[in-house]
Amino acid sequence: MYEVILYYKFSHIKNPEKFCKEHKNFCKELGLKGRIYISSEGLNGTAAGTKQQVDAYKKYVWSLDGFEETEFKQDQSDYIPFAKLICKVREEIVALHVEGVDPKDGGRHLKPNEWRNVMESGEDYVMIDVRNNYESKIGHFEGALTPDLDNFYDFPQWLEEANIPKNKKVLMYCTGGIRCEKFSVLMKEEGWNDVNQLHGGILNYAKEEDGAHFKGKCFVFDDRLIVPVNPKDLAPIAKCEITGKPADTYVNCANMECNKLFVCSEEGAHIMDGCCSEECKKSEYKRPFDAENAFKPFRKWYNYFGEDFKQRSLRQEEHAQS
Ligand SMILES: [Zn+2]
Repeated sequence: MYEVILYYKFSHIKNPEKFCKEHKNFCKELGLKGRIYISSEGLNGTAAGTKQQVDAYKKYVWSLDGFEETEFKQDQSDYIPFAKLICKVREEIVALHVEGVDPKDGGRHLKPNEWRNVMESGEDYVMIDVRNNYESKIGHFEGALTPDLDNFYDFPQWLEEANIPKNKKVLMYCTGGIRCEKFSVLMKEEGWNDVNQLHGGILNYAKEEDGAHFKGKCFVFDDRLIVPVNPKDLAPIAKCEITGKPADTYVNCANMECNKLFVCSEEGAHIMDGCCSEECKKSEYKRPFDAENAFKPFRKWYNYFGEDFKQRSLRQEEHAQS
């Protein structure tokens, strides 16, 4: 068994380049794999390793000035769901593309049991799923608004058009909590007063409250792609985009030029050779269909179309997972 962690901490980093270099060296030496982003606003990562490696990494993070209180969402997996270690400096650790958003001015953090109590209280509220469309599609809380957006940074525009009354109680959630840290600030700045966010996100809620009132599964940004949330309610809520039958497995379109991540059953993948459309099926950039590996992330195909393509794909992947 391996441990998979998801974590973030907003804490000012004076010299992100230096911080990143040291961080990367530590992780490399330790043999940790995953994706870690660093900016002047803090640290955001998801990583995996043996229990020993993960324990050592957590200790390291807690030893860093300003990161003593970093919280880790932790799960187990029977394989390491990352191919390598990426540790990079970025403009923002989660990209909202709005200046001057300080998580200190965010909403009220609700513990999982408090969140559940509000859901069961009969109180009037609006609940917003602040994740992307391909995430909320396969799982979300009962009654949540699930905006049809491809990127987190599309949310400010969506909010302008959503017509949510300013006096409404707002509940928002995401995978691990980081997106709410920024979006809650924006909503308060725009005039909503009763803004609440699920502390630790869906993954923490799954642990603490057995995922009650959550339908479907949770999308995660590692090779597992989905994890269960509510053990009493595991039926897929999404449909295979090819066959229309219930499904919650994902495929990256086999046309590397398209590469769209879409919900697709095994049957659908066979019918379309792993492609999302007839058009993609005809593309010269279509990799050969490999039934056994159709449901695994696409990156091992990078080399298939040469170095230019590989670099482009790497950039795409990074963009998609931001
Ligand atoms: Zn396609």
